Amino acid sequence: MSVVDEVKERLDIVEVVQSYVPLKKAGRNYKGLCPFHSEKTPSFVVFPETGTWHCFGACGTGGDVFSFLMKRENIGFGEALRMLAQRAGVELEPRSPESTEAERRLDLLREINQAATTYFRHRLLHSDEAARARRYLEGRGLNAETLDRFQVGYALDRWDGLLNYLVDKGYALPDVAEAGLIVERQDGSGYYDRFRGRVVVPIRDHRGRTVGFGGRILGEGVPKYLNSPQTPLFDKSSVLFGLDQARAGIRTSEMAVIVEGYMDVLMAHQHGLNNVVAQMGTALTEAQLRLLKRHTQRFVLALDSDTAGNQATLRGLDVARQVMDREVVPVPTARGLIRFEDRLAADIHIVALPPGKDPDEVIRESPAAWLKLVAEAKPVMDYYFDALSADLDLATAKGKAEVVNRLGPLVAELGDQVQRSHYLQQLARMVQVDEATLWQQIRRGGGQPARGRDRAERRPPSSGQPAGRQQKAGLALDEHCLSFALYHPDLLDQADESLRACEEQPLAAEDLSRPEDRAILDAWRAWLKDGGSRQARAEFFDTLEEGLQERVEALVAAQADRPPLPEELLRSDVLDAVTRLRLHNLRREVQSLRYLLEDPEDAAAATSYGPLIIQATARIRRLQQALNERSLSGRRQQKDAAVRVPFGEES
Ligand SMILES: [Zn+2]
Repeated sequence: MSVVDEVKERLDIVEVVQSYVPLKKAGRNYKGLCPFHSEKTPSFVVFPETGTWHCFGACGTGGDVFSFLMKRENIGFGEALRMLAQRAGVELEPRSPESTEAERRLDLLREINQAATTYFRHRLLHSDEAARARRYLEGRGLNAETLDRFQVGYALDRWDGLLNYLVDKGYALPDVAEAGLIVERQDGSGYYDRFRGRVVVPIRDHRGRTVGFGGRILGEGVPKYLNSPQTPLFDKSSVLFGLDQARAGIRTSEMAVIVEGYMDVLMAHQHGLNNVVAQMGTALTEAQLRLLKRHTQRFVLALDSDTAGNQATLRGLDVARQVMDREVVPVPTARGLIRFEDRLAADIHIVALPPGKDPDEVIRESPAAWLKLVAEAKPVMDYYFDALSADLDLATAKGKAEVVNRLGPLVAELGDQVQRSHYLQQLARMVQVDEATLWQQIRRGGGQPARGRDRAERRPPSSGQPAGRQQKAGLALDEHCLSFALYHPDLLDQADESLRACEEQPLAAEDLSRPEDRAILDAWRAWLKDGGSRQARAEFFDTLEEGLQERVEALVAAQADRPPLPEELLRSDVLDAVTRLRLHNLRREVQSLRYLLEDPEDAAAATSYGPLIIQATARIRRLQQALNERSLSGRRQQKDAAVRVPFGEES
């Protein structure tokens, strides 16, 4: 993790911004008067979940905590880094992460969790009181080997069982409390055990280190399931239960199966179905999908068949679409050209479980039946077709219009021609309209992304994430654009021109996700504007703050490493990349706006954000059109070239 990421992870952006701007909570976000332009109604929004801010008013800018401070204090990147690092307690000297104070602290918490695991495990195996728990686990069909593999334990029905054990081991109570294992009494008179009278399952991160616990009550009692609270180690939205055990299985089977409960995972692994993991919350999160994506591109979601399950599925899929669908992938073409294309980067299937059954039961009855269900999982589009049309009466005009409204944008987004025409046919049959008319209608509807039902639950898209990875040079799309700008300043001018032709502002710092990169682009623009030499990059380096120089060198090197391209191809590569980047950012902005629009606690949301969505959608359409036109004319040129080649060889 870079220092910048570490600082961002530790700091609460709301807290930092609040020391400059009074903020009010609005739903899950915070709003205030924009400090960068004068206004009477607040249009400055801070998104704590993604650590970003955006002004939806006159300035229209946004960024992360770094860009906020740099803009507000009018300081450079280096100074912002120093200030924020100090605030976050991050040391700036290049040291190995293990030796930093924070890392030592996390190690201590992990050690406490490990000691607790041992304690719970010992109680389950040896305490008389745990006889009930042992019977319960046996009754659920879990064998000793599985319980050992997952280190399942038991928490005595006492207020100070674990507490006394850890104190005897020499751990300080506040540390144990920070690990989430004990709770401070409200009157401050001491602490008590969080987990009591429960079967306890350690929740381990993908590296197998215990970060928290899940406890299931024996018999009646509430809550039935109790998890560790959020701690410096444990964030349930970024952990997948069982991933440490499932990594190998996921790789071999080239597929990850995601279920809802940890008991399901235990049962699956006991039967050798070792590619199964569980999400810890109600909906899949971006962080969880990113963890899985390191191992496979194929996902099967096996979730409850009841309505709640379906809604959770839709929410999870919405997240999946945000993470996967929009990924911009580099496609190597002839002559070393790399083209960025929006593509479905993952293959997502849905298992419909038999009504009233969870995976645990299905697997216990017959692992073969489970394998069959997984093999017959529906492609996500088929699932959408069923789920999004279930509540509509397709015999009525209203029902038909609504189903086109819901499914049309999804069909339009499919990158694969064959798939798109397949689903277009299917939709055409549903509404009994011919395909050509339907397609025209969908295109006119613009690029409205699909939506889940439980809109308020959706997470805002994270603008902190780089825009797609380019495997070849290891650069994300926005980094790629910046490296172009540095290496080919003449093409930067042309890229600006092509954006202007779409009524867009030139490539700007706001287009980039990393604060260092923003600072570099601003400095480079200023250098060029002041008449600095385009070729004398070395002189430009010298004007940069320390810390930024290395970054520029890396970005320039990435371009220098690419094979030389014919001028025309290079030009279209640059224009495409810049257009795609702007498109990507606009789509993210629309997602943010939608998210704000759907905030049930913000009564004025519709009037403030509705018009902005319309504006942004119009911009998206213009850019997309420019991109399409360029790609058409590019194909024509390639054809011409192909025709000319034989003549060239003859002469
Ligand atoms: Zn503003």
